[in-house]
Amino acid sequence: MSDRDDWEGKGFSFFQNLKCEYFPCHKTSKPEDFNCLFCYCPLYTLGDKCGGNFRYSEKGTKICTGCLFPHIRSNYPKVIERYPEIKKLASENRNK
Ligand code: SF4
Repeated sequence: MSDRDDWEGKGFSFFQNLKCEYFPCHKTSKPEDFNCLFCYCPLYTLGDKCGGNFRYSEKGTKICTGCLFPHIRSNYPKVIERYPEIKKLASENRNK
């Protein structure tokens, strides 16, 4: 999907919750392009394969405070194109 541009300028691919007490919840030099759509990053479930700037705590918790990836407006298609991997994980875990 990343070669398509039909998402640009659409409400389903970008919005900002300017009333959020935490906006912008990650440091950015471009708050006007800060996307709130993936507030809870759907790539979190991909663990160390998410492609973002994460780290793990000593207890093994994945920490994303240093990652801006899902909040960058132009990254919308890059997040969406990973959904088949998330769907596959969900299928694999269905009877656990
Ligand atoms: S916020 Fe960044 S590091 Fe965390 S899961 Fe999403 S892409 Fe990965």
